[in-house]
Amino acid sequence: MTAYTALQERRARSIPQGAYSVTPGFIQKAEGAVMTDVDGRELIDFAGGIGVNNVGHAHPKVVAAIQDQAAKFIHTCWHVGMYEAYVDLAEKLNVLVPGDFDKMTMFANSGAEAVENAVKTARYATGRAAVVCFENAFHGRTLLGMSLTSKIKPYKYKFGPFAPEIYRAPFAYCYRCPFHLSHPECGLACADHLEEFFINQVDPEDTAAVLAEPIQGEGGFITPPPGYFQRIQAICRKHDIPLIIDEVQSGAGRTGKFLAIEHWEGVEPDLVTMAKSLAGGMPLSAITGRSEIMNTPHLGGLGGTYSGNPVSCRAALAVLEVLFEDKLIQRGAEIGTKVRARLEDMQARYELIGEVRGIGSMLAMELVQDRETKQPATEAAKQLTRDCFDKGLVLLSCGNYGNVIRTLMPFVITDEQLEKGLQILEEGIQELSR
Ligand SMILES: *Cc1c(COP(=O)(O)O)cnc(C)c1O
Repeated sequence: MTAYTALQERRARSIPQGAYSVTPGFIQKAEGAVMTDVDGRELIDFAGGIGVNNVGHAHPKVVAAIQDQAAKFIHTCWHVGMYEAYVDLAEKLNVLVPGDFDKMTMFANSGAEAVENAVKTARYATGRAAVVCFENAFHGRTLLGMSLTSKIKPYKYKFGPFAPEIYRAPFAYCYRCPFHLSHPECGLACADHLEEFFINQVDPEDTAAVLAEPIQGEGGFITPPPGYFQRIQAICRKHDIPLIIDEVQSGAGRTGKFLAIEHWEGVEPDLVTMAKSLAGGMPLSAITGRSEIMNTPHLGGLGGTYSGNPVSCRAALAVLEVLFEDKLIQRGAEIGTKVRARLEDMQARYELIGEVRGIGSMLAMELVQDRETKQPATEAAKQLTRDCFDKGLVLLSCGNYGNVIRTLMPFVITDEQLEKGLQILEEGIQELSR
């Protein structure tokens, strides 16, 4: 019996299946872009703990910050005993988030909580209830988070009733255009549709926020074309509706800029949510936005016991130092260029790959049964992630049909590890294409 099978048996007896693990490995240590399982097997990590390890596992600067803070104090609760790291991090994010206006930041624990707090704040500031979100969106698993999320299985199935006053608009999914048009001839009809949405679906005067991921993560790394968010922002501004951009998965340098929305020049979201890679694996999320919105909820209206935990804040400060001063964002962009070239090369040779998309190192390939019908190749994607795991590569799928393969490798991955990972991936595609 391997250490894995022994643990797996104990797991099956003691932990509910709902808290599923897509990859069958128990990890004993991880460093950089490599995880080692309990049987001593090394795994190249293209998943990064679902986009959390942009700076890599056990980055020495992050570990040092965590250790130093843990030895001083682990928790006081921000509402009871304040500390400088919270202020330092808020000030830094207020500068890093785009927008030529005064900003404020508050912290929570998870991406879902960041979304919840952004929506609560937007509702408070506008005195309105409705939230417009998008098809294929993912915003978390809490009641409001899953209500805003699009995909039914596994996130919403039998978990209702859902939160009210949520309206879902079509998104800029060019490969499967909801309007059956093609870019650029479409003239961004999907963005303009929001105007119609405000006539047919919900009144703009009842709308507290429009909430969007700049590149949809769980939904399939769906990347809107240039000009899209400028158009969405213009419509929001016309109706005085705050625009919330959910950067939980796309932020912290994943796309080659600190935030993905920076790729749509001139877009200045009213509120931005961040989590995942922000604190290098420590639970932390941030809501950064216009001071006049952020500062509206009454004294004591927002927060939580662990929100903005000092160890997490110190870890996040270290992550920012590594991303900017050690220029790891640039390295991430270089990795993206390499990976994109390889994925496009595979696409040219294997019919299975319908589209390669994304920005920076937030890249994905959508697998299809044939390129004409674009029938999702869900089983192939499942098989591919399984085969890759067996050969030592941790890889994640995403997309409403589970047919999209995404890359979320740490930026500290060495050229050798990257090459080996891509090699395993290509072999997997090759075998499936036989
Ligand atoms: C992962 C994710 C969330 C939810 O974050 P949790 O920390 O799991 O609650 C929200 N929004 C986006 C875009 C995400 O990718």
